Amino acid sequence: MSVALVNIGDSHTGDTTGTVLAGDALVLNGGDIAWIGSSGDVSVNDHETVIDVAGATVIPGLIDSHVHTTFGDYTPRQGMIGFLDSYLHGGTTRVISASEVHVPGRPSDVVGIKALAVAAQRCFADYRPSGVTVHAGSVILEPGLTKADFDEVRAAGVWLAKAGFGAFAEPMDYVPVVHAARDAGIVVMAHTGGGSIPGSLSKISADVVLAMRPDIAGHVNGGPTSLDPEENARIVEEGDGIALQLVQAGNLRSAIDIADRALAKGAFHRLLIATDTPTGTGVISLGMLRQMAELASLSELTGRQVVAAATGNVAEVYGLAAGRLAVGRPADVLVVDTPVGGRAHNAFGALEIGDLPAVAVAVTGGEVRFTKSRNTPPPSRAVRVTRTGATR
Ligand SMILES: [Zn+2]
Repeated sequence: MSVALVNIGDSHTGDTTGTVLAGDALVLNGGDIAWIGSSGDVSVNDHETVIDVAGATVIPGLIDSHVHTTFGDYTPRQGMIGFLDSYLHGGTTRVISASEVHVPGRPSDVVGIKALAVAAQRCFADYRPSGVTVHAGSVILEPGLTKADFDEVRAAGVWLAKAGFGAFAEPMDYVPVVHAARDAGIVVMAHTGGGSIPGSLSKISADVVLAMRPDIAGHVNGGPTSLDPEENARIVEEGDGIALQLVQAGNLRSAIDIADRALAKGAFHRLLIATDTPTGTGVISLGMLRQMAELASLSELTGRQVVAAATGNVAEVYGLAAGRLAVGRPADVLVVDTPVGGRAHNAFGALEIGDLPAVAVAVTGGEVRFTKSRNTPPPSRAVRVTRTGATR
């Protein structure tokens, strides 16, 4: 299955500076990006599908690093099936589990919590609902977990953990457990801010985050309750190496504060855009685009920077090959544009005035999943499929 995208306008390869593609055409084959070059060099008969991007913009598929998946495309928290399919129509091609804490009756003993993570990892290893890649199986840190336990689950394929929902008496009790998980090579996201659900601790403060030194300060702008600006400043200034995850289901004012502090410090690469959904805040199908538009229009971040914070920055922190447009990388690609009737010239401009871009095309794993999002407005440019069918 070969897919060619031609007549690309602006583009963003996913790196921190928002570099444009070296060309105006992409060829996708075998699940990867196979070629980047000039539209004039594309022979349409060589490809099963050819999409005329008509001057619209091409970016990597968005990676949401804070999604509460359970099993299948179902969220028990909001009683909704098909939410991942809806998220794909908002440009999210890949999600990372923030732990399977929403599984009804989820276990909290050491054996059970390990089994839950392994089962979730296995269930999504080859299962891509609607084409969305799900990195599932995040160990919920509970008292009693040791380095040997983390070594065991790591050997079984689990590489994610979440601190914040365990039955620890004091927040500081998390510190040795987070360190043990990281020592085993597991990527740890820590809850930041006030408690989110009954049973979670009252607050994870800046002191606790800096003592834990997780890979990611999860919902650093609150999930949904934020820390105060002095604590935000400490996490940005003293937390080198800790990614700063700004979520839609958090505090917007705090997200703006943290984004601007990180930019001023020269720590843009630490900023990740995510949703922290489904949660009590709901299922937000356009959550990634909303968080990107709010930050591009209200903080010092540019339209190109919010795209990087939702793609390449995330891939870098989690060690994923996705999130970049380059030959050999996974073919998770979006065609985006200023929405029809919008004032901006292209998708980056739309984000900077607070408009949600149109997602005109989504490709995941090299397969075209749709050529018209059912959730975003339509694009202003006439993006169209010009060839479908077998190659010669
Ligand atoms: Zn969460």
